[in-house]
Amino acid sequence: MRLRRSRVREGVFSSTGFRIRAARPTAATPPVAGWAERVAASLFFTFFPADCRICGAPLIEISRLPVCESCVREPQPLCGTFCSVCGEACDFPTGLNIGDTRCRICRKAHPPFDRAVAYGSYDGNLRDLIHLLKFDQVRPLAPVLGRMLADTIRALEPTLPPGTIAIVPVPLYAKKKAQRGFNQAEAIARAALKCLARPSRFERRFELCGGVLLRSRDTESQIGLSRRQRRENLRGAFSVCDPTPILQRNILLVDDVYTTGATASECARVLRRAGAGRVWVATVARTLKIPDVSAVSSAISSATSDDLSWRQSRDDNGELASVS
Ligand SMILES: [Zn+2]
Ligand SMILES: [Zn+2]
Repeated sequence: MRLRRSRVREGVFSSTGFRIRAARPTAATPPVAGWAERVAASLFFTFFPADCRICGAPLIEISRLPVCESCVREPQPLCGTFCSVCGEACDFPTGLNIGDTRCRICRKAHPPFDRAVAYGSYDGNLRDLIHLLKFDQVRPLAPVLGRMLADTIRALEPTLPPGTIAIVPVPLYAKKKAQRGFNQAEAIARAALKCLARPSRFERRFELCGGVLLRSRDTESQIGLSRRQRRENLRGAFSVCDPTPILQRNILLVDDVYTTGATASECARVLRRAGAGRVWVATVARTLKIPDVSAVSSAISSATSDDLSWRQSRDDNGELASVS
């Protein structure tokens, strides 16, 4: 069963199997329960939905997440061959100059950011988890997605210049943020920063710079637009209110999803025009034109600007370790 759309209340989403089963009629339960019991059971299921919102399996652990453990663990890091700039999956033809690991689009015109990286492919459970956070306001999922983003940032970190990197979440239009109650990019960035604070060597490496970049128009509906139309649609949508916190600073732009890169490019262009240094992009997920390369193992693939495919995997402590 795929993701079911309904609004979710925050709070404890599951209970023990005992309490759920106890409230359901069984062979031993009298057919007509007392009204108090029925009201209690009805209230219980109203406030404590018992099934995973992705696969429908009964939730048997007490948790604030309306998603089972296996659905949370299912998204895997990308593994394959990717453009060293935009991170698009690439099937480089034999005979191509091996030093040039950029995709056709990036060879034609380098985007205004240095490099974009993502944790996983925007499909399956990862897309469902992002949608639950974004559209159903299941905010306890921010730390889950934040951990994925933190893994990606850790892998990118050795390629970043020294000094503190300013983390700038892609902003939402104010009205949209008021409707949603939060900006998912900022919630994920905050959660990732908490993960990055351990080990402490990353504590001062990254610093959240929220509120610097503003979105003055609602541009979220870009479905069906071509790459060029998306670019036009976004022109003038972002601005920097006070450039002081980002002047000559290196920026890591953070968002939940990278699709065509039009949003990331426009944000990077505006930040650099306002006086920022270099800009990198990190997202939880990205769409891939060659879906097969997203099928994976426990490895994370991420290319440095001049090295196409060094890989990393987790050791027993959950730390990332280079394997090739
Ligand atoms: Zn599930
Ligand atoms: Zn590219």
